[in-house]
Amino acid sequence: MHCDRCGSPAIEWIRYSGEHLCREHVLDFVERRAKRELRAQVDLHGGARIAIGMSGGKDSSTAAFLLSRFLRERRDIELVGITVDEGIASYRPGGLAAARDLCGELGIEHRVIAYEATAGHAMDEVVSVDPEAIPCSYCGPFRREALNRAARDAGADYVATGLNLDDTAQSILMNIARADVEKLARLGPHDVRQPGLVPRLQPLRMIPEKEVYLYAFLRGIRFHDATCPYAERAQRGRFREIVSRLEDESPGTRHAILSSYDQMRSLLQEKFPPARLNACARCGEPTIHEICKACELRGRLGHLASVESTVEDPSPR
Ligand code: SF4
Repeated sequence: MHCDRCGSPAIEWIRYSGEHLCREHVLDFVERRAKRELRAQVDLHGGARIAIGMSGGKDSSTAAFLLSRFLRERRDIELVGITVDEGIASYRPGGLAAARDLCGELGIEHRVIAYEATAGHAMDEVVSVDPEAIPCSYCGPFRREALNRAARDAGADYVATGLNLDDTAQSILMNIARADVEKLARLGPHDVRQPGLVPRLQPLRMIPEKEVYLYAFLRGIRFHDATCPYAERAQRGRFREIVSRLEDESPGTRHAILSSYDQMRSLLQEKFPPARLNACARCGEPTIHEICKACELRGRLGHLASVESTVEDPSPR
């Protein structure tokens, strides 16, 4: 097979468009869409400091590589990589090392923020204190809190993530299945700046996971190829399977889900405009409630730990 654009030997068949592409055109195809998304999401003319949430996996490593490639000539733009250390001993050290090494190669600052310092508990500890819970239900709010805090502390104007097309389509369907329309309206990228909340950028949101992987491989981007040991208990897994089955049966479905969402987005945002944020009464992080979700979960963990210690030591005082 030959590349439909230049006639060189093709290395990839893009099923949803029917095109065969050579190495150079696969790279170009990914870069063009990421650049277009970045331009559509943010105006960087006045310069900016952009934090990149870097787990060390393929998606965030590719996002960091691409942002560095697109913006390296810009003296008025600074990038800073931030790795959130969830405290998962069998998983996180490899990602952390990969993120640190890649930042070194790209010549960008790298910072680490640990749940032990923000949430007060490492994820391995959370799982032992609350074994019945789905670990991601703790980890999601703790990560949002840690990344936002670290980005703000780093003086970042924006925080970019490696969310790809598959992730985005799954999130849209998950929120629809749960009838959480308000959350659906607030999926990033964010175009409104709210006090205390660093707006999210998602340069890979139009790029399928497989193409991100291929791009990282072709460019020799360093990343940690591993799965979190708690991922199999995540509800997202079901939606991952659904989206992948739909895409297999009807190529282009992920793009159609995202395109439908983008067409509805302004209507959703009219119904659910950005809520007025308060500073959480306990930790000061932005929240629409009095107490933020992370503090609510910290309270639950504290309660479970105290019940556990009472059961272990029932001696009367
Ligand atoms: Fe956290 Fe769940 Fe992701 Fe593991 S899979 S890092 S527990 S959100």
